[in-house]
Amino acid sequence: MEIFKSESIVDFFDTFQTDYDCLNYLAQKKWENGFKCKKCNHTKCTIRKYNLARDCNRCHHIESPTANTMFHKVKFGIRKAFIIVYEMCCTTKSISASHMAKKIGVSRPTAWLFMQKVRIAMKSSELHDMQGAVIVDEFVFGGVEDLKQGRSSDTKKKKLVGAVEINEKRKIKRAYFKRIKDYSSKELNKIFETHISEEATITTDKWSGYKPLKKNYNIKQIKSNTSDFFEINTIIHQLKSGLRSVYSWVHEEHIEKYLNEFSYRLNRSIHKQTIFDNLINRLTNNKHIGYKDIIIST
Ligand SMILES: [Zn+2]
Repeated sequence: MEIFKSESIVDFFDTFQTDYDCLNYLAQKKWENGFKCKKCNHTKCTIRKYNLARDCNRCHHIESPTANTMFHKVKFGIRKAFIIVYEMCCTTKSISASHMAKKIGVSRPTAWLFMQKVRIAMKSSELHDMQGAVIVDEFVFGGVEDLKQGRSSDTKKKKLVGAVEINEKRKIKRAYFKRIKDYSSKELNKIFETHISEEATITTDKWSGYKPLKKNYNIKQIKSNTSDFFEINTIIHQLKSGLRSVYSWVHEEHIEKYLNEFSYRLNRSIHKQTIFDNLINRLTNNKHIGYKDIIIST
């Protein structure tokens, strides 16, 4: 199948003019390797012309292109859902749910819910550790003064740790973030064990919490106000200003999803042409996620 490869919004609207165009794209992705009935494993089917659903020739189980994907039961139309996906990956900055709702003509809760699903799909596969030069730093977000770098004991602030991989020319290759409960080694280790290879050359500030991690990692601790922290400070600043400008309030439990979104876009900034297709793949292969899986039970 021909995959959508463009950053142009004109190309996007030319390719996806109707719900049918979007369903067709999804159907091609879903049955890329041929049809197999979910009920009886039969491999022959009849395609229903009007909605591209597959009707099994043996047991007549019908499967729609959206079934078992994150587009399942999207009531506002699949084309609008495609537009949300495009907006979230092809723009450089995040859009708030209320702005998105107005843009595509749905209610704010509807936009918010689907955007949360997209953010879940944006989560790192955690299969590709950062290998080279990596800088790690902890910071806070929220509260009255959130411009301050480093640690804070203010309980209203969200505590975060970030890791940035840079190349020989000190250009940022990738960045990941984690929410942490405190600045203990156990909490700081979360970003190490998920995203950093034991072979990496890591720089941190002089905080004692990093010391025990030296057992498994190659960590150099230096003063945080040196130029070695320039790249991570720039990224943290971008993340904070992005969060501040579009989300007046981000619940503690949801912040990881916003961090996923930020990293997903940043880490693919050199693959912008195929970012939409990549995200559609993820949404197609992810199981259906319902409202109950997203809302916080408090
Ligand atoms: Zn069947």
